[in-house]
Amino acid sequence: MQRVTSQGKLYDVCIVGSGAGGGMAAYALTKAGADVVVLEAGEPWDNAKDSAMLTWPYESPRRGKSTKERPFGEFDACIGGWEIPGEPYTRAPGTEFSWWRARMVGGRTNHWGRISLRFGPYDFKRKSRDGLGDDWPISYEDVAPYYDKIDRLIGIFGSAENLPNEPNGVFLPPPRPRCHELLVKQAADRLHVTCIPARLSILTRPLNGRAACHYCGQCNRGCKVNANFTSTNVLIAPALATGKLTLLTNAMAREVLVDASGRATGVAYIDKATGTDRRVRAKVVVLAASALETARLLLNSKSSRFPNGLANSSGTVGKYITDTTGTDVGGFIPKMMDHVPHNHDGVGGMHLYMPWWLDNAKLDFPRGYHIEVWGGPHVPSYDFIGGIHRYPSGGGYGKQLKDDYRRYYGATIGLSGRGEMIPNDDSYCEIDAHTVDRWGIPVLRFHWKWTDHEYKQVKHMQETFRGLIAEMGGQPASPMPTAEQGYGIADGGVIIHELGGARMGDDPKTSVTNRWCQAHDCRNLFVADGGPFVSQADKNPTWTILALSMRTSDYITDQIKKGAL
Ligand SMILES: Cc1cc2nc3c(=O)[nH]c(=O)nc-3n(C[C@H](O)[C@H](O)[C@H](O)COP(=O)(O)OP(=O)(O)OC[C@H]3O[C@@H](n4cnc5c(N)ncnc54)[C@H](O)[C@@H]3O)c2cc1C
Ligand code: SF4
Repeated sequence: MQRVTSQGKLYDVCIVGSGAGGGMAAYALTKAGADVVVLEAGEPWDNAKDSAMLTWPYESPRRGKSTKERPFGEFDACIGGWEIPGEPYTRAPGTEFSWWRARMVGGRTNHWGRISLRFGPYDFKRKSRDGLGDDWPISYEDVAPYYDKIDRLIGIFGSAENLPNEPNGVFLPPPRPRCHELLVKQAADRLHVTCIPARLSILTRPLNGRAACHYCGQCNRGCKVNANFTSTNVLIAPALATGKLTLLTNAMAREVLVDASGRATGVAYIDKATGTDRRVRAKVVVLAASALETARLLLNSKSSRFPNGLANSSGTVGKYITDTTGTDVGGFIPKMMDHVPHNHDGVGGMHLYMPWWLDNAKLDFPRGYHIEVWGGPHVPSYDFIGGIHRYPSGGGYGKQLKDDYRRYYGATIGLSGRGEMIPNDDSYCEIDAHTVDRWGIPVLRFHWKWTDHEYKQVKHMQETFRGLIAEMGGQPASPMPTAEQGYGIADGGVIIHELGGARMGDDPKTSVTNRWCQAHDCRNLFVADGGPFVSQADKNPTWTILALSMRTSDYITDQIKKGAL
């Protein structure tokens, strides 16, 4: 990775962050010929060299224990976590919110589940359908050409199902369901729950010089052959190959700089290696530091012209933030015990999923959720089948214990609901006036509240999952959570799909960016992460972040050509 110390150069575009949004902007803008600098707060990474894809679990010197900077396991690709030393955030009293941040080239795309769902036509116009939240100023038709382009560029498997709000894509063939997934499918069919091939950005055929997946199931460790999508190797690497990208790693952006006329002139950042303050100059600034970090940057970019933070004349920076609703149920399926050993290889993720299938008119909550499937006999890790004494045989010693491990291995399935939260006035972030990070940069303070909409939706998830497990002849691993336990809803932020804080809209009084993700208050400032999202949808957000980032990048290229920026 190149490291440039010159302060004098004027770049066409400065992008903050190299994850999904920043990586796509860097790719699209350099391919269009722009001279781009990316400021990335984390370290370099290269899947081909750095991934632990083929390391056996028993090679772990820590017996599988995770590390602070790798909370998902020491072999996981993603450096980051819920808590980053020296980079705190705070919560208002009563708020349960956790913020997962990556600190490396490629951001969270080094670990993500690669569930790559398009938002559907209804998702952009929810207020018109149920009166809640707000409509987007754009529709599915505006984004569809970009979804098509990223399908072709990055690669995604799936199947054309012609469902009204789960649009078809340009799909590679999906992998066949594995044994536990076939059992889930049979139960879902009997209960009339739609169950279809998953849609994941993993190559089942070679594409654009990248190899197809060999089904080792280790996607979260980074794929050495780049058969799955990371911004790191699929977007940043080709952007660097154009010769038009300068990538500054360990560069922690502090604020966007503006001149007296209110134009962005560049970004001030900390060189983490030396702790020194630096500046980079650019004609256009694109923020893609992840939705909430972008809100933080905007709120911290105060000047005499923008005393409440940049792009914040509406007072809505940091507002309308959402996360996906989520809850899980695991189940023990006796039918899957003592299975005949068979090839169970697959991608590092589910081969089937259940999109939202019900009509809200017949339910007591708005919006919906989809169901993700896990379980079966994946590569055993340290502590697999933890708590075997709770299984019917009650644990034991020696041969009986070994036999029990063989009998029960892979006889569990899990179902996770991922649903749509509606933005509310009690869920937002702001600058904490009393706390700064290790570089003296003011940090975010979170306020969070679920409403009855979300609690009722999650109750429905729990009941549905228990019904599916019963239909498979199994037993849930945990009792039904009570109303007092919020029906098992995950805390805000825990599903790691936080969005909003710089929402788009046609009215500058109620939104931060326009339909091109361009700040209403500062025409050469753009947001290319989840910040401009008006609503969540029950879809995981990254495919839409990528599509919008590409759309915004095309707009920037067009505006530069017209001399409008
Ligand atoms: C375990 C896990 C599973 C997930 N599974 C899925 C899934 O299956 N499907 C899905 O759609 N989404 C999933 N996600 C979410 C997905 O990873 C994010 O939606 C996506 O990565 C967001 O892209 P982004 O560019 O906004 O942010 P990120 O990918 O987080 O990138 C932001 C980058 O900005 C850098 N940065 C932050 N602050 C600064 C600063 N001040 N200065 C300079 N650089 C900075 C960070 O270091 C980081 O590299 C998952 C996430 C996790 C962690
Ligand atoms: S399962 Fe496929 S995409 Fe995932 S790491 Fe293995 S080869 Fe790569």
